[in-house]
Amino acid sequence: MTADVTLKIIVDALPLPTLIVGADDRVVASNDGATSILGDTMVGRHYIAALRQPGLLEAVEEVRAGKARATALFAGREASKETVYQVHVAPAGQDIFLSFEDQTATEEAGQMRREFVANVSHELRTPLTALLGFIETLMGPARDDPGARDRFLNIMAKEANRMTRLVDDLLSLSRVEEEERVRPREMVDLGELLASVIHGLEPQVKAAGVHVQLQNHGDGQKVPGDHGQLAQVFTNLIENGLKYGGDGEKITVSLDPQTHHARLRGIGIKITVTDEGQGIAPHHIARLTERFYRVDSHRSREIGGTGLGLAIVKHIVSRHRGRLEIKSELGIGTQVAVILPTEAVS
Ligand code: ADP
Repeated sequence: MTADVTLKIIVDALPLPTLIVGADDRVVASNDGATSILGDTMVGRHYIAALRQPGLLEAVEEVRAGKARATALFAGREASKETVYQVHVAPAGQDIFLSFEDQTATEEAGQMRREFVANVSHELRTPLTALLGFIETLMGPARDDPGARDRFLNIMAKEANRMTRLVDDLLSLSRVEEEERVRPREMVDLGELLASVIHGLEPQVKAAGVHVQLQNHGDGQKVPGDHGQLAQVFTNLIENGLKYGGDGEKITVSLDPQTHHARLRGIGIKITVTDEGQGIAPHHIARLTERFYRVDSHRSREIGGTGLGLAIVKHIVSRHRGRLEIKSELGIGTQVAVILPTEAVS
């Protein structure tokens, strides 16, 4: 067996994408993992041509010059997705071993966390700036103006309420995420749940001058679920109908009998909340469940939206192994359907 064949057998046995640079500075062996990162033409080539990225070349040079080990980051692109590897470079006799540790998921999680913190800070800063502005005015020029004081205090209360809603939604979201892998165990009567949600929303429904109609009561149909979370799903959906619907419109909540749903690959019950509001343009629909995504941020904030309602809905539905479908037509209205499995699925 030649030395190169032996090296190939060794790299094939290793779990990480690995390649070996030989004494003549050419790549002598690589396993499938390394080939899928760097392409299948690198064996036999000089390592400078095969690896290309300056940080990694530097690490190899350091090891060649006698360093016991070195690491470098390697940015790749696989199946049109950006990837990031931490590459461990170490000498093995005259050869140099390079093993690639995939850091993509960690990088992505870090990026998401940074974006999330930036979004939350931005959302909190807007009402805080308003509050500070009014406090300053009340302490200064408007100190002895009772009319202005009342007006400003009203706005301040509105801003403070907005911050409370945001913090409440953030806490709900983190609770829901925490429990996402825990299967709900109670059996929830959907008709009863919807009737109680609609009852709880009566003051807002009256204030909006809207009619909410529950189309049928489901004859005691039950799903395995978390009562509080499912109530939150339908509260958020009906509230959206109220927020983005027109005056005097109707919101219909329908509860279909259980049947086979292809999207669920099983038996489920579909609940649909339909409004006759302004509707949503098609290119927004896929992104509505992202945190803080809004079609019109200004309008959403104005009417007390946090941009988190549908993100919470999506997480709760996914904890229940259900499906969420949003259909909408501009000027006609929006239909949001939740399909929940009637049997616990693994
Ligand atoms: P928000 O707190 O802003 O309402 P959501 O996550 O509940 O946040 O909804 C995200 C965005 O989706 C809203 O800002 C709004 O633009 C749009 N949207 C949600 N439901 C409806 C609806 N029934 N009709 C029209 N637009 C809607």
